[in-house]
Amino acid sequence: MRPPPNRTKLRVPETLRLSVSAISQAENRVHRPPKLTPRSFFGRNGLLAAAHPNYEYREGQLQMAEAVASALEERQHLIVEAGTGTGKTLAYLIPSILSGKRVVISTGTKNLQEQLYLKDVPFVQSLFEQPLSVCYMKGRANYLCRQKVYDAEREPMLAGLDEINDFRIIREWEKSTETGDRSELREMAETSTAWWKLDARSDLCSGQKCKQFERCFITEMHRRALQSNIIIVNHHLFFADLAVRDQAFNAILPEYSAVIFDEAHEIEDVAGQYFGMTVSNLQIQELVKDTAAISRRKLFATPELDRNLIQITDRAEEFFRLFPQEGRQSFSDHDRFLGQHEETYREILFVLDALCTRLELIEGVVDETLPLVRRARTIQQGLRFFMQSGDATYVYWTERRGRGMYLQTTPIDVSQVLAANLFGRVETVVLTSATLAVAGQFDYALGRLGLEHARTLRVESPYDYQKQVVLYVPPHLPDPRRADFTRRAAHEIEQVIQASSGRAFVLFTSYHQMRQTYELLRDRLEYPLLIQGSAPRTALIEAFRETKGAVLFGTSSFWQGVDVQGEQLSCVIIDRLPFAVPTDPIVAARSEAVRQNGGNAFYDYQIPQAALALKQGFGRLIRGTADRGVLVLLDNRIKRLPYGRVFFDSLPPYRFTDKLGDVQEFFDV
Ligand code: SF4
Repeated sequence: MRPPPNRTKLRVPETLRLSVSAISQAENRVHRPPKLTPRSFFGRNGLLAAAHPNYEYREGQLQMAEAVASALEERQHLIVEAGTGTGKTLAYLIPSILSGKRVVISTGTKNLQEQLYLKDVPFVQSLFEQPLSVCYMKGRANYLCRQKVYDAEREPMLAGLDEINDFRIIREWEKSTETGDRSELREMAETSTAWWKLDARSDLCSGQKCKQFERCFITEMHRRALQSNIIIVNHHLFFADLAVRDQAFNAILPEYSAVIFDEAHEIEDVAGQYFGMTVSNLQIQELVKDTAAISRRKLFATPELDRNLIQITDRAEEFFRLFPQEGRQSFSDHDRFLGQHEETYREILFVLDALCTRLELIEGVVDETLPLVRRARTIQQGLRFFMQSGDATYVYWTERRGRGMYLQTTPIDVSQVLAANLFGRVETVVLTSATLAVAGQFDYALGRLGLEHARTLRVESPYDYQKQVVLYVPPHLPDPRRADFTRRAAHEIEQVIQASSGRAFVLFTSYHQMRQTYELLRDRLEYPLLIQGSAPRTALIEAFRETKGAVLFGTSSFWQGVDVQGEQLSCVIIDRLPFAVPTDPIVAARSEAVRQNGGNAFYDYQIPQAALALKQGFGRLIRGTADRGVLVLLDNRIKRLPYGRVFFDSLPPYRFTDKLGDVQEFFDV
């Protein structure tokens, strides 16, 4: 075994820079570290123990690392449920590096991606002598378009003082940044409209024809990826790439041998988005706006072109008004719709076609017109697929979100898509999360994702849940479907929060329920109350961390990816078993598909899905060995009805009580 590395190497951003320069010298060569095994790192006296004074040996972490290493070596697929606190990130990152293969690591969010790259990779780098070749890739909107910056200097594109101010910051930064990644611009507001006008989205990109192509940050990102062994992406980027991988020129990621999905419980939904299609009125408005602006800047505006754009705006307004203007609705009666509105539908296709023809005839500005034509064609294609494809393997639905009206198609069953495009094509796929098994079994996740031949592993959390957690289910509350539930649940929440001295998340399955309960409690609780929607999510979490005794009311977006360690979060209250809304178009179509295949939609789909969601929500509470607290489920169907067993069998072994006095006693200790 090698001697422990020099600890001074733990300061790391430099090592990352080192790795980038080493990569560019090495071009496509892969760095293969000397023969080390997972045990060399995760064993009782391994490199991690030597490198980190607080490192605790965890049997489960070693088990997982060995399972990942052999899956990579033997070209097998693997699914691992790793309980909270296992240290799963290092358990897949280190074996990936040791494999010497090109491995894509896909995380649930951009934040997790950054955490992995800026925190875990530097730490692992400190354990290796030679520079690791690691890079990250994000979606194009995260990067700056140099060409747009230069255009903006010459042509009027920006409006208002804020935009001009942000532009100055961006222009200076463009001269020195190596990545063009906007996360480096911490001083600029998330909502900057200047950024939105200058980012590298493909909408206006002329690709290889662009004068800046060689210096482009997107080109640079691709170059780095080509030279890296480990590529860190997020699920959205991964599936955006997978959906277009057949068309080689569209591919985003270079060839890879393996992919590891962290937060793998999310991939069914994300894959559904990218193997489906979306068309919206906003896309059309953007196209019209960009065409008008560019035609003026590049001097190809004509009265005919302007008329064409006005027609597109009018026809689109008329067309999108024909759909339900509230929430998510399924759209199944295409024949009836076309019977009544075929003319309006054909007209929007026609005026988009006219725009393409007109733009294609303009000479000398093809760099500008080509991306516009491509966008108009994509919109037409989406409209045709939505209205005319008749493909019964998709669910068709509409959604109104703010000013946007979206027409969407989603595969009903992503398992076949994933079996063909992912599991059948990539030699090793590792799926990991703290929530993949239902009642100890992986059948549900494997079936939903279409993964047939996979090794499985469950690694228990190192936390002592019997000592650290009490799960309280009040037996006296009415069924949550009854009208008096909200009022009585609010009273129960009040008592629990008094016992916990605030320090609680109160999580709801619906926005409406959250608001109603909040209104009932806002004057009765003396603790600082935070509610979803009153500020951005990250600001609310930050405020919760910093405000003594705070209570946060939230819905599904707070059920996962939120990490508050320590006693500031001592209680998580959930209003009801988190069954998906049965009338939601995707849930309804997937339930129907289960029935048609001879299954029982409630037992085979809705219960497992809700059991995983509950495990996810409760997982917010204990994030360290010193954490302790109370979980409260206000829905006592978990005790009263036979299916409640599945939920209990899926949760960690919490200490259970149905007495409020035990909650008080727990907090008094
Ligand atoms: S290649 Fe595209 S993204 Fe890159 S600078 Fe040119 S226009 Fe912008």
